[in-house]
Amino acid sequence: MTGQHRDLTPEAAARLTLDPGPWLSCDDCFEQMDEFVDRLLTDGPTGMPALHAHLAGCGACGEEARSLLLLVAADEGIDPAPGLRRLAED
Ligand SMILES: [Zn+2]
Repeated sequence: MTGQHRDLTPEAAARLTLDPGPWLSCDDCFEQMDEFVDRLLTDGPTGMPALHAHLAGCGACGEEARSLLLLVAADEGIDPAPGLRRLAED
């Protein structure tokens, strides 16, 4: 079978990229939070849009991520402000 790649319109491609996909549960969120916070505290892209969306929409997880970020930053002796800003960004 050939020709399995159907033409993807730019609109469809953009949707696929922007759509955070299946929403994470709070449990999924907690599992990935360490990694997310690590990435927030470095300059690279977090690459975790679903998690970021969950944190923005879930007060409990958002607060947890904030606390964790402050904790990790203090632990590693780095400024938490940029990470907090990135966390608050959409
Ligand atoms: Zn949650």
